[in-house]
Amino acid sequence: MTHPSHYSPTPIAPVVRFAPSPTGRIHIGNARTALVNFFFAKQHGGKFILRFDDTDAERSTEEYALGIEVDLAWLGVTPDAKFRQSDRFALYDAAARRLREAGRLYPCHETPEELERKRRLQIARGAPPVYDRAALNLTDAERAALAAAGRKPHWRFKLDPEVVRWDDLVRGDSHIDCASLSDPVLVREDGSYLYTLPSVADDIDANVTHIIRGEDHVTNTAVQIQLFRALGAKKAPHFAHHNLLTGTDGQGLSKRTGALSIASLREAGVESLAVAALAALTGSSIAVQPVHSLPELAGLFEISAMSRNSARFDEAELRALSQRVLHGLSYESVRDRLAAHDIVGFKAEPLWLAARGNLTRCSDISDWWSVVENEITVIALPPDLRAAALAALPPEPWDETTWAAWTAAIKEKTGLKGKALFHPLRLALTGRESGPELAKLLPLIGRAKVLARIGG
Ligand code: GLU
Repeated sequence: MTHPSHYSPTPIAPVVRFAPSPTGRIHIGNARTALVNFFFAKQHGGKFILRFDDTDAERSTEEYALGIEVDLAWLGVTPDAKFRQSDRFALYDAAARRLREAGRLYPCHETPEELERKRRLQIARGAPPVYDRAALNLTDAERAALAAAGRKPHWRFKLDPEVVRWDDLVRGDSHIDCASLSDPVLVREDGSYLYTLPSVADDIDANVTHIIRGEDHVTNTAVQIQLFRALGAKKAPHFAHHNLLTGTDGQGLSKRTGALSIASLREAGVESLAVAALAALTGSSIAVQPVHSLPELAGLFEISAMSRNSARFDEAELRALSQRVLHGLSYESVRDRLAAHDIVGFKAEPLWLAARGNLTRCSDISDWWSVVENEITVIALPPDLRAAALAALPPEPWDETTWAAWTAAIKEKTGLKGKALFHPLRLALTGRESGPELAKLLPLIGRAKVLARIGG
């Protein structure tokens, strides 16, 4: 189901960000978020920021951050700007100070066990398990006693009890009643920040106009809209929450991140354009289809075509799509990759055009390069056919008509035709049961090698 577009272009070019935590490599579901942001920025002449949410020093690593950049580059997603949260604590400290001064950030001393006990009591009473704000009612003496006992506080954001509304670019008119939410913890006991506050402080600082992310963040949005206001933002950004990719069984992808990581798909030889097309178009009203370039995909993509229904992702479909993409790739678009396999020179392009339709993975082209360039093991022709083939072999120069002329002459001499003629010739020329059109391969193999293969 298509949702009418909620995005009416403003005079200001949009600023979006993709904000992974570098606590692992990204999978195809994360790539979906990155691509949706990237395409949205490209379509509207905007800016795409890569932000590493690495405030969790224990789990974040430089290696993962670099790996994510490699994965994005492979997909063709190039950030206009890049920063990491671990460089920006001064900004978050200032934001926290501002909230404290406004009475919106308050210290709480409950232990996890105490909170759990309260929660269970509330549920038993049939009350919603919302934090009771007991910390706000502590007397000065009680606070002093807690401090004397060495209890460090964590800090909660005091929500206004209102219904927060926003017009979601994917989900349409959305609202959350903040009275039904617990005041969120923004700062842990050890002074470290949870994701919520740094994210909003950064979005304000970077003038982010559109927060586009997975629907697992919908419930954060009301809190964040209140935070934007509390931190003095003139206006909260627009929000869009896209549906999440699931497996064919409808389960989330997170458990399978290993198999569906961008790195593992790349290593398995899956085409990046297939990954991008499936990641961006699955679960939208635009058909998943093979594309020839990322700009072509960016042109097809439409954020308002994303649906609220689940987006089932099928690995078999990815593999099939990858082959269809591969079979349509121009020589230009694979030139560098072929060069990396030492496939260069005047034969590289005609070989690519002849063989691309037979490939499962791009790297398989090396095998056909060997067939036209190297000594290979072939299967000898039966004696009669061999004699006729040698006798009829035309002189060079050869082109794509040579094959027809040669085989017509052999057919006349031997009476062989169809498979009985072509199959032994294919085995003798290529050593392979099947493959690209021999009319195209023959001039690339050349007369000297053909003589060696059928005469030797
Ligand atoms: N680091 C957060 C995540 O990966 C970012 C969420 C957001 O885009 O606001 O889920």
